[in-house]
Amino acid sequence: MTMKIELKQISIRDVVNGYTENDDDVFGLDWKLNIRPSYQRNFVYKDKERNAVINTIMKDFPLNVMYRSKNSDGTFEMLDWQQRTISFCQYVQKDFSISGKYFHSLTDEEQNKFLDYKLSIYICEWTEREKLDWFEVINIAWKPLTKQELRNAIYHWPFVSDAKIKFSKRNCPAYGLAKDYLSGSCDRQDYLETAISWLSKWAIEEYMSSHQHNTDANELWLYFQKVINRVQTIFPNYRREMKGIDWGFLYNDYKDNTTNFEPQVAELMADDEVDSKSWIYKFLLDSEKRHLNLRSFSDTQKRICYEQQQGICPDCWGHFELEEMHADHKLPRSRGGKTTPENLQMLCRDCNLRKSDR
Ligand SMILES: [Zn+2]
Repeated sequence: MTMKIELKQISIRDVVNGYTENDDDVFGLDWKLNIRPSYQRNFVYKDKERNAVINTIMKDFPLNVMYRSKNSDGTFEMLDWQQRTISFCQYVQKDFSISGKYFHSLTDEEQNKFLDYKLSIYICEWTEREKLDWFEVINIAWKPLTKQELRNAIYHWPFVSDAKIKFSKRNCPAYGLAKDYLSGSCDRQDYLETAISWLSKWAIEEYMSSHQHNTDANELWLYFQKVINRVQTIFPNYRREMKGIDWGFLYNDYKDNTTNFEPQVAELMADDEVDSKSWIYKFLLDSEKRHLNLRSFSDTQKRICYEQQQGICPDCWGHFELEEMHADHKLPRSRGGKTTPENLQMLCRDCNLRKSDR
């Protein structure tokens, strides 16, 4: 299908006709217009913005053109200005007043003038891809969508609807279960993005594309619960360093590990030598020391020590330039040696390598 765009004038009266709000479903235009399709964000207008819209209409000033997508069954979806549309519908339905004036307190003439206000609307018939391209352009000018909100816009089938119930609503199950373990916010789709990235190993588009017509997101939800439950089993004491770790990737690689690591976590948390506390969790699973970002000697400490040694390597008694020497823990870290000036010596490269070989 090639894109077809038609400009139409529609009155507020027509849009408000049959306006209904039901939880997340908002319809107008005698039920033919879906004002809040599943890919649209939640209502975020502030009173000030809302009142500005009403005042614009009352003064008969022009509003920007709006976009609607036409579906094959003859119904429409609002592509933008969802907030604006809801604002004037709610005003007509007497939900709020402006400067003390409710819609029903206006004169008949004022009411009719308001209802006869003509909205300019582009009616678009296009493919999912074209619709997405449009979203990317228009949202630069308005409140930008996050990457995951854009993905939800393309794959707006039952899978996404169910996934949003589990991962995106305020006080959704994912929030209740995992808010202390995830960064970002659920209503900007960060939780959903995180969960899918874990399960799909970052193949988010592929996962959404192949699951978009599933009737539910149970697979994703069950996986997510397993990940968080496992975290709570192996790291039972919560610490704030646990927030924002990619737990799913650790789960994918170490799902058979059910050790209770609390004693080791407590010990490493109290260890001065460990700089990266949040990496302790990954380290305990994969034993890769570099994660811990162990404390190292500063350039100043090295210089002072070099001058005290007068450039002499204490192992081979050769003289070296500072650049030819390495900082060394006299008592190795593996035996409890600390990264302190008293435990520092400068060794020549060869001696240092020999020492770490022992
Ligand atoms: Zn040496």
